[in-house]
Amino acid sequence: MSEENKEPESERPEEQPDMQPEMDISTGILTIEKAPGRRKCPKCGNDNKNMIKESIDKENIIMDYPRVYGKKYLCGECGTVWREK
Ligand SMILES: [Zn+2]
Repeated sequence: MSEENKEPESERPEEQPDMQPEMDISTGILTIEKAPGRRKCPKCGNDNKNMIKESIDKENIIMDYPRVYGKKYLCGECGTVWREK
């Protein structure tokens, strides 16, 4: 009798990849890590800033006083809306 069928116990690091976009289920808005360089669409990769519309995101209050809102971006190519952290 051999016991070679033991499953290898691999170590599972508890790290979570931080770069993955998170989807806000209630709003459908993606939140991505702010990337250096050009802003680009997390979905289609469009980085033409004329095709990316920036707007104030009133649901995303960054600071209460003075009141500062976050921004959200709309891709003119694919219609994706996202936020940056
Ligand atoms: Zn896009």
